[in-house]
Amino acid sequence: MKETAVVPWREFDAFLLDLDGVVYLGGAAIPGAAETVAALRAAGKALRFLTNDPRFSVAELAAKLRGLGIAADADEIFPSGRVLARHLEEADLGGRTAYVVGTAALKEEMAAAGLQLLEGEAARHAEVVVVGGHNSLGYQEVRLAAQAVRNGAAFYATGRDATFPMPDGPWPATGAMLAAVEVASGKRAVVAGKPEPLMFEVACRDFADRRKVAVVGDTLESDIVGGKKVGCVTILVLSGSTKPEDLAASPVKPDYVLPSLAALVSGGSGPSAMR
Ligand SMILES: [Mg+2]
Repeated sequence: MKETAVVPWREFDAFLLDLDGVVYLGGAAIPGAAETVAALRAAGKALRFLTNDPRFSVAELAAKLRGLGIAADADEIFPSGRVLARHLEEADLGGRTAYVVGTAALKEEMAAAGLQLLEGEAARHAEVVVVGGHNSLGYQEVRLAAQAVRNGAAFYATGRDATFPMPDGPWPATGAMLAAVEVASGKRAVVAGKPEPLMFEVACRDFADRRKVAVVGDTLESDIVGGKKVGCVTILVLSGSTKPEDLAASPVKPDYVLPSLAALVSGGSGPSAMR
């Protein structure tokens, strides 16, 4: 691990950039993020934007990035809901009935993958259950999902992150809500998001040499653990979930540590160097 060392960023072909805590925090861009993305593009680097946040569609995330001054094509954006939908399609679950706990965007993603969505009491007999965090989780959703899983439904979730970073500190993420369904059903879900390899495998499809692909993330347990699992180079930024003392206490050691994304191309001197 090279702490705040200069990252030889020109040696990489592609960067997989986590969004929450790397590119933005809540509704605001992290200082220097947009300029860094522009610099990477100008240098001809391929970019992929990854997020375990299942609340927004690809189009919504593209619009959010555009609003922050970052241009991104739909096929560069990999939210956990899209990754899970692709996985379910490839697992030939299209046509099965499903109960989806999540936002309207996540339900649309699952319907587009061919699942027949059920609501209300019929959901107890769904063949597939998908859990993605959303901002208005209720008891009935936990009950119906747990009942369907107990009745034998295949059980999936977009992620297992306990929290996501916000300006006022961590907020509960999918993992916190998934825990309720797992405890109530006594079963464990198959997960699409980081650190599971699925998201990285999908995002890395165009890149043969994983040592030329760098994962940039703010969370040791998801971004860094996951990036290591698939053989990518890992870069931790301290602009989101992880504090220096967390890193010191963790057995997980990224290849590089930077104060924020801006330091990637400005040689470790922080966001001010981008201005
Ligand atoms: Mg993050």
